[in-house]
Amino acid sequence: MTLTGKTALVTGGGRGIGQQVCLRLARMGAVVGINYVRNSSAAEDTLNRIRGEGGTAFLAPFDVADPAAVESGMKDIAAAHEAVDILVNNAGITRDGLMARMKTSDWDQVMDTNLKGAFTCSKAAMKGMMKKRWGRIINMTSVIGFLGNAGQVNYAAAKAGLVGMTRAMARELAGRSITVNCVAPGYIVTDMTSSLTEDIREAIRAQIPLGTLGQPEDVAAAVAFLASPDSGYITGQTLHVNGGMYMGS
Ligand code: NDP
Repeated sequence: MTLTGKTALVTGGGRGIGQQVCLRLARMGAVVGINYVRNSSAAEDTLNRIRGEGGTAFLAPFDVADPAAVESGMKDIAAAHEAVDILVNNAGITRDGLMARMKTSDWDQVMDTNLKGAFTCSKAAMKGMMKKRWGRIINMTSVIGFLGNAGQVNYAAAKAGLVGMTRAMARELAGRSITVNCVAPGYIVTDMTSSLTEDIREAIRAQIPLGTLGQPEDVAAAVAFLASPDSGYITGQTLHVNGGMYMGS
């Protein structure tokens, strides 16, 4: 129970990767805030699963793409619970399409959720971490931010942007013992990848040395390590969880 006494917030914690991150951090003893924007039943399910395992969690619904909602949501958390010690910027969306036909609104929505959301949540959470002189910020990027992908210029730009933001934040916050890192999943079985056809899945599998798509638990394990005291000397890094499909830095 290495996170006893810590409060964690996982954006997009109701389902998919975020849900497994919530479960894992709660098992490590953290009090876990489950953020979501629409799917309250998935978030309640996550809450009940944590409570069923003897953990402590609470719901924190707000839209990470809306800076005013982030500010008030984070204030509510600090008032009702503790200031956040561990922030996992996991909320993400895709709005795919070839660039020639991509609407500016599809670009904006992806940027607002995946990149600006991580900025505003981190900005709100870091004040409390700076006071406590301890913190963990973990940004969920993607293998697509490193490889690129036709049909995902918006998503690839947002995810690559997170890597640069992480490195700059790591430098700004290191003096207060706050580490900032990325986790970069490859293809993981969640709602986000559920619309892939069997042909596309097969083509993806062929590019993965370990021969299979990943599970949300695989990503949660990496987040758990970066949230733990064991990772205290690691900052500004990206931990790739992709079955070997990308092996660069
Ligand atoms: P899902 O589509 O399964 O879940 C997305 C989560 O994000 C949901 O909980 C959703 O909330 C939440 N969310 C979306 N928009 C907002 C918003 N504006 N405010 C707050 N919460 C929001 O995604 P995954 O679990 O697959 O992905 C999680 C993260 O991992 C994302 O950042 C994604 O880009 C990244 N990733 C995923 C990969 C994959 O293969 N699955 C690969 C690489 C990276 P609600 O339930 O209320 O809709």
